Amino acid sequence: MLTKSHIAVAQNASGRNLHVPVYTIDCGNPGPKVYIQSSIHGAEVQGNVVIYQLIQYLATSKIHGSITLVPNCNPVGTNIKAGEYTLGRFDPVNGTNWNRGYFFDEDAVNKFAKGVSETDTEQDIKASFHQYWRGLIDEKMNQSWGIPLAQRLNLSLQLLAHDADIVMDLHNGPVSSRHIYVPEYAEKEIGLFSVKHNIVIPNQFAGALDEASFCPWWTLVNHLTTKYSRSYDFNKYAFTIEMGSQEVINFEESKTDAQCILAYLGQKDIVADCAFSPRNMARYVVDLENYATLYTDFGGMVEYAAKPGSLIKRGEIMARVLNIDELDNANAVTEIAAPCDLIPILHFPSASVLSGTQLYKCFTNYRVF
Ligand SMILES: [Zn+2]
Repeated sequence: MLTKSHIAVAQNASGRNLHVPVYTIDCGNPGPKVYIQSSIHGAEVQGNVVIYQLIQYLATSKIHGSITLVPNCNPVGTNIKAGEYTLGRFDPVNGTNWNRGYFFDEDAVNKFAKGVSETDTEQDIKASFHQYWRGLIDEKMNQSWGIPLAQRLNLSLQLLAHDADIVMDLHNGPVSSRHIYVPEYAEKEIGLFSVKHNIVIPNQFAGALDEASFCPWWTLVNHLTTKYSRSYDFNKYAFTIEMGSQEVINFEESKTDAQCILAYLGQKDIVADCAFSPRNMARYVVDLENYATLYTDFGGMVEYAAKPGSLIKRGEIMARVLNIDELDNANAVTEIAAPCDLIPILHFPSASVLSGTQLYKCFTNYRVF
C-alpha cells in the first residue's frame, strides 16, 4: 500500500515551513527497510523522475518490508537559481555542501559496542542501536545553540533513514556518466546493480548520507568482531548513485535507471517477482584513492575533448584551453593530455574556467568486475 505524508525540513524567511513529500510503500509483509532520496544537491534532478518511475512500478508490486522515497529532498537547493542555472550544491547561508551535514560519531559507536554482550542476537543489537542512534540525532537537532540550515535539513532526512537496511542517495555529476559509490565491505553488491562505473569507498566519514548510513554499522561490526572473535553481519548497505548529468531530466533514461534499482531490490527479494534482473555487462571498478582529479593550471576557454565513460590512453588529449590574450602567437592553445590510461567519469560543466578548476574526475588503475 502506498501512503504519502510530508515533513518540514527548513523554514524560509517568511516563517513558512518548507516540506518534502515522503512516499512509503508497505504491504505489511516482514522484510528490510529501504530508504531512497533524490536531489539533496538542487541541480541534480534526474533522481526525481527515477523515483516517479519507481512509484509507478512499486505501487502495484508485492513488497517484503517497506520502501520510503523522498524526491526533491532539498526544497531550498532546488530553488536557488542564478539566471539559467541552479546553484544547488551549497547552503547559501553558511556555504557548506548540502551533503556534508549528516550525523556520525565514532566514539558513540565505541561506547555502544562496550555495552553489547556476547549473547545478544544481531536482531537485538540492531533494535537497540537504532534507538540509541535516533536519540543522538534528536539530541543534535535540539541542542540549545541551534544548528546550521543544511545540517538541520540533513538530520531531518536522516531521522527517516537511520534505521533503514538499504539507503540510496540519488545524485548527478556535472557532465557525467552514470556511476555508483559502494562501500568496500559490500563490493560484491556491484554485480547486483547494472552500473558501468563503480567507486569503492573506505570506512571514512566525510559527512555524506551514504557514509552516515554505513560507517556506524561498519565500525560496530569491527568492534564486536574483535571483541568476541566471531563474525557479525547486520546486512546494512548504503549507496550514492550518480545518474548522469545535473540540470537534465530524461524520462526515457529514467526507466533504465529505475529498472537498475528495481533489479537490485528484486535480488534482495524486497520486490517479489521482480520483472528486472541485473544486466550481463562489464563493470569497471576503482578504489576511491585511484579516483583522480585532473586540474587545469591555466585559465581560459575549454573544449572538453574526452567524453565521460570513454577509454583514454596516456598522452591522449583530454582538453584544449584557449587563452584569449595569446591569440596572435603560438601560446593561444594549451592542450591537456591524459597523465595515464584512464576513464573520464565527469567533467566541469562550463567552457570558461579559472586556473585550478577541476576539469575531470577519472578512473585510474581500475579493474573489471
Ligand atoms: Zn550530488
